[in-house]
Amino acid sequence: MSITDRLSAIKANIAKLQKESPLAAKHVKLIAVSKAQSIEAITELLEAGQRVFGENRVQEAAEKWPNLREKYPDIELHLIGSLQTNKVREALELFDVIEAVDRVGLVDAIVKESSKLNAIRCKKFFIQVNIGNEPQKGGISIEALPHLLAACNLQPATLVSGLMCVPPADQLPAPYFALLYKLAKEHSLPNLSMGMSGDYETATRLGATHVRIGTALFGERK
Ligand SMILES: *Cc1c(COP(=O)(O)O)cnc(C)c1O
Repeated sequence: MSITDRLSAIKANIAKLQKESPLAAKHVKLIAVSKAQSIEAITELLEAGQRVFGENRVQEAAEKWPNLREKYPDIELHLIGSLQTNKVREALELFDVIEAVDRVGLVDAIVKESSKLNAIRCKKFFIQVNIGNEPQKGGISIEALPHLLAACNLQPATLVSGLMCVPPADQLPAPYFALLYKLAKEHSLPNLSMGMSGDYETATRLGATHVRIGTALFGERK
């Protein structure tokens, strides 16, 4: 199967799950996770009409995307990996959405850099929640989420529109997706970025508005 065929198959699958599942969102955005993928493979997806992409590193995105944007100006680029404070300025110029806001220090840096820049691309933010409470993983703890949300929403520059998570790798993801859904409802946040190649179907059934799919689209990363 070509990348384009896989894109069509995944989209059809998501549409079917949306019809079947009472909790599924009306609109589910497929984020093509293009980290470690070639420009050729990415271009194939762009030619097939895909416009929403995800990268997990600022440096790699800076090398790949400015050129592609010249040719395809309506690209929507999501930063799905953790962001260091010293890369905030670059990230605000490169990405449309930053999904992994996970600490007050990062919010402060975003506010500070936003006030200095006159052309900010990024206007949309998600908070990453460490949903399985794993020490090695990024994301704010569930206990500290209300505090971080309050810090974000004090500032118009960092208004949060959703939550993002990566559940523990060795467990069934459904309870973690259900928990993220509940947290988003509690805080009246409309967007939920959850689900990757291995579990996007479960995530779609449980209300994901954004699924982040790499391997199932592109094949294994090099
Ligand atoms: C790499 C990555 C993905 C995509 O993973 P696949 O299993 O290849 O679909 C999704 N989300 C995040 C945060 C990632 O780092």
